[in-house]
Amino acid sequence: MKANKDNLPTPTASPVWPTSDWPPYKTKSVKDLHLPEACPDCGGSGYFRQNVQVGHADFGRLIACACRLQEQNRVRQQQSQLKGWLVEATFENYKINAANQSAVQVARKFAQDPRAWLTLWGCYGPGKTHLLAAVVNHCLADHIQAVYYTLPDLLDLLRQGKLLDQQLHPLV
Ligand SMILES: [Zn+2]
Repeated sequence: MKANKDNLPTPTASPVWPTSDWPPYKTKSVKDLHLPEACPDCGGSGYFRQNVQVGHADFGRLIACACRLQEQNRVRQQQSQLKGWLVEATFENYKINAANQSAVQVARKFAQDPRAWLTLWGCYGPGKTHLLAAVVNHCLADHIQAVYYTLPDLLDLLRQGKLLDQQLHPLV
């Protein structure tokens, strides 16, 4: 059949949209998303500026808000690999005795300036795990990323080449 403009249907009036139940879905607003309320100090941006005179050292400088630091600490805590009682392990609740006194001193010194690696080894039971967790928790309190690995976990990461990708300061 040959196309012919006389064979085409005649256009009718513009389509009529139903009005009573259109659109068939309920429109949502931002309030329906139940987002957490923005921080009153920074408005949710995570940073603020101090109101200081031109020439002041902090003029125009962005300062991390307490809410931002809290969120960073939460993420560092998650990445630290500390679980269970290790989350609460500190130097203050570590039981010091004559056998572990020098290890505590070394671990405290390391925690104050964590560079390179700290490795503790010894027999089962003297508190190596608690001491290393205390170092990690001390670093986290100073807003420094630190991770607790057991030796098998660390060796697995090294074999897989993932340790360098994580940009972390591992403690064994
Ligand atoms: Zn804030």
